[in-house]
Amino acid sequence: MTDLLTPVLSAHWGEDNSWKLSRYEANGGYEAARKALDMAPADIISLVKDANLRGRGGAGFPTGMKWSFVPQDNPNPKYLVVNADESEPGTCKDMPLMMATPHTLVEGIIIAAYAINSHTAFIYCRGEVLHIIRRLQQAVREAYAAGYLGKDIFGKGYDLDIIVHAGAGAYICGEETALLDSLEGRRGQPRLRPPFPAVAGLYASPTVVNNVESIASVPSIIANGKDWFASMGTEKSKGFTLYSVSGHVKNPGQFEAPMGITMRQLIELAGGIREGHELKFFTPGGSSTPILTAEHLDIPLDYEGVAGAGSMLGTKALQVFDDTVSAVRTALRYVEFYKHESCGKCTPCREGTWWLVLLLMNFEKGIATQGDVDKLLDIADNIGGRSFCALADGAVAVVTSFIRHFRSEFEAGTHTPAWELFPYEKSAVF
Ligand code: NAD
Repeated sequence: MTDLLTPVLSAHWGEDNSWKLSRYEANGGYEAARKALDMAPADIISLVKDANLRGRGGAGFPTGMKWSFVPQDNPNPKYLVVNADESEPGTCKDMPLMMATPHTLVEGIIIAAYAINSHTAFIYCRGEVLHIIRRLQQAVREAYAAGYLGKDIFGKGYDLDIIVHAGAGAYICGEETALLDSLEGRRGQPRLRPPFPAVAGLYASPTVVNNVESIASVPSIIANGKDWFASMGTEKSKGFTLYSVSGHVKNPGQFEAPMGITMRQLIELAGGIREGHELKFFTPGGSSTPILTAEHLDIPLDYEGVAGAGSMLGTKALQVFDDTVSAVRTALRYVEFYKHESCGKCTPCREGTWWLVLLLMNFEKGIATQGDVDKLLDIADNIGGRSFCALADGAVAVVTSFIRHFRSEFEAGTHTPAWELFPYEKSAVF
């Protein structure tokens, strides 16, 4: 099975001191950045476009195309912002990458910032992960000391500063425009798009916001070329990527494999479902993506394959749930998350997630009526596509997909209340 893996980003995670500059350079680190700084910025953008690297933060927007949207005739400074606010439930790929090989990210930033003509880059990281913030700061300090950041990088006449910024732990600040508001010192709440950040972002200036994994993938493309990258993956979703597999598998973790690997293969790589149980459902890309079930085990996990099954690839965070899990309780737990994390700016999200939790609790308590399933769907229908950003759509995806696959569990009316199964939970849940 391990021949299915394509370790590029994770190739050196297990090495001693993998996070140090000396180790990174011993593995060929910063050669791609040196090479890139001898290229014309437009050629770098073309290369990344031709490789068809798609954004690894969840949406899959073509990275090179996003870079090409930056208006170079705009007199304002251009900014590169790395979205390191990884917080989609189940998603745990950027954090280990930044912990194990932070210089991959720093090198990718040098290349990307140079390509878009930016001299200031930010890494916006979750505030709670102090160990990662320290690791990033250490890597940035090492890079400055070696002359890889600051003035006249590699003696090639290009200047770049990187600022590591700690957020304060709000899911909404992973939404790119809320992140920019937060970076500007305001309360993190989404802005209306368009304009997209590439045109008017940080301080109303052209800003590219890219995910950690997207940027960290760039050095390998510069080093090995577009054909190498495109030799992996599927027709429209090229390359390798980091899948996070968690839940009821024997060996959860991060698996770096080509785009288009199947869920069945990933579960096998993760050691299989835990002994004596069967798969009940899984999220293909974190809780914001509609759940799938055993009938979808063989679809390719790429943007097109997952969309064809009625879901989204999202962050490639595969949370695996076996037959011991209640669909109703899981839906409630997820929607509670969205209610808690709603920033409150728009009514459909602020009020809608509150109502969804209220109704789901009735199912959990065993006091819901048959009509409540349709009421849930009706509320979801009034939220979906009507909110400022995609946060509320995540809650809608939970409700609609759980009802689609497990309607009978909702309708049965025989759902056993949590406190009858686990008496200690009564005070905790209600
Ligand atoms: P989106 O499709 O609206 O945008 C994706 C990116 O493309 C953005 O950077 C956007 O600025 C850019 N873009 C899109 N159209 C553009 C245009 N016409 N011109 C210029 N730029 C354009 O998606 P989104 O709302 O930014 O993100 C949603 C995704 O985020 C979901 O798929 C979800 O999986 C993911 N997500 C990830 C996490 C995480 O922890 N990584 C957390 C929550 C959600």
